[in-house]
Formats: sequence, structure tokens, C-alpha cells
Amino acid sequence: MSRSIEFVEVGPRDGLQNEAVIVGTADKVALIRRAIAAGARRIEVASFVNPKKVPQMADAEAVVEQLGRVDGVTRIGLVLNERGAERALATGLDQLGAVAVASDEFGARNQGQTSAESVAVAARIIAMAQAAGITAQVTIATAFGCPFTGAVDPARVVAMARELAAAGPVEIALADTIGVAVPAEVSALVGAVRQAVAPLPVRVHFHNTRGTGIANVWAAVEAGAGVVDGSIGGLGGCPFAPGAAGNVASEDVAWMLERSGVATGLDLARLVDTARWLGGAMGKEMPSMLAKVGAP
Ligand code: ZN
Repeated sequence: MSRSIEFVEVGPRDGLQNEAVIVGTADKVALIRRAIAAGARRIEVASFVNPKKVPQMADAEAVVEQLGRVDGVTRIGLVLNERGAERALATGLDQLGAVAVASDEFGARNQGQTSAESVAVAARIIAMAQAAGITAQVTIATAFGCPFTGAVDPARVVAMARELAAAGPVEIALADTIGVAVPAEVSALVGAVRQAVAPLPVRVHFHNTRGTGIANVWAAVEAGAGVVDGSIGGLGGCPFAPGAAGNVASEDVAWMLERSGVATGLDLARLVDTARWLGGAMGKEMPSMLAKVGAP
């Protein structure tokens, strides 16, 4: 294989945060360990947010403590403000994930910040991580559209990416938080952001709300995105984005990319096993296609 991407498993964070039934800490840790056994080397293990707003993440500290350090694995903690960053840093995580928002309205509801404020806060979070001796990445949420105000200007996203890149993250991620993007938009925006932030890698995060998630992954990889998110089983959503459906499933991403000659480092059979295990643990059918039909 001549090409490869870096895969980021977001199931323990984005996959679970929208689930109404609280998943126990031990099951979260088991999910993370299974993701590692299936080849994931970067994992969003929890978000350090207000437990009143996202009760599923109330045990973030306990998850990190029970998981412990894992050789060769980067454990990412998602944070929306300095308070969250302080909590995440206190756990000894490997990387902070900051979130800047392209839409003022979404920013107000998701994290109480305007778009401009979220860029400034993300820069401060990156600085806090660096001061603590670890790295940080930043995701631009609603990069392809806002659930409240509709279209997002790609020029705004590119300008944000440029400003955020100057703060020193390890990558710039583009998130289609509500699953409205189509492949042509993905190609254009990934290409433009790549140009703006090179040599920093561009990471992509897609939700399959309207059935274009997996096609968007392909468009992004073809446009040079070096890092791709997935969620085991295709779980996911956003508590502050009405109607947002699951993330693209890790096993669907692995199937498509590996068979297209793009190495992911993932073990498809183990991912499918884990998706089915998770479906059993949560008592629901997973949206993932590979979990339904299995890996041949
Ligand atoms: Zn998401």
C-alpha cells in the first residue's frame, strides 16, 4: 500500500455523549481497550464538559484513571474552555482537543462562545497544553453548516484555520457536526484549508445524518486529509445539534479505505466484533453497515 491515513477513534466521546442511557465507567474503559486492540492509536477518551449539560461525560476523570497510560496510544480529552482544560490536564492525558465553532449561534448553544471567542479560547487551551508539556489539536465545529443558521461561509472556516494554526496545534480538524456536507464541498474545503495551514495535517470528522458520511471521508482523503475520525458502531450525535445522527462507523471507514489501498492500521474483524459487543451492552442496533453484515 502506498497511502495511509491516521485514524482517530471518537466513539468513547462523541459516540456516547448523545446517548440517553448512561454507560458505566467500566464499559467505557472496555470500549477504549477494545478500540486499542483493534488498532486505534489516537482515541478521544472523554470530554471534560459540564456534567449538568452532558451527564454521559460526568465520569471523565474516572475513565482516564481506570484506563491509565497505554504505550503508543494518544489519549485525547476534549475541552471547550479553560476550566475543562484544567480538569483534563490534571488527569495526565496525552493531548487536549479544543473546539472552535464556525457559527456564532451554534457556539452560543454548544459552549457559550461566539465564533471569534471560541478561536481565542482554543488558542489559550493550546497554550495551556503546551505549558503542561503535552500537545493539543483543534477542531472547527459546524465547518460545513449550522443547525440554526444554515450555510457557513468556507472563507470564514479557512480564516479560522489559519488563525488557529498559528497557535501551534498538531492538526486542524474540520467537523461536519450536523452531517450536511456533500463530497464536492468536502473536496473544496479540505483543499483550501490544507493550503492555508500546510504543513499541518487536516483531520476530518463526519456524521452520516444524510447518508453522505462515508462518501465525504473518501472525498477528504482524496483531497489530502491525513487524519480521519470514526466511531465504533457508528454511534454519535451532538446534544446541541438537533437531529444530528451518528458518526461514520470506524469499521465502515476501515472497510472502504483498506480495500481502496489506503492503510488505516485498523483490524476490521475486531472492530466489527466490538461494534456488536457495544450494541449488546447498549441494547440497541448499531447504525454501522459492517456491524450488520460482518466482515467477509
Ligand atoms: Zn461529532
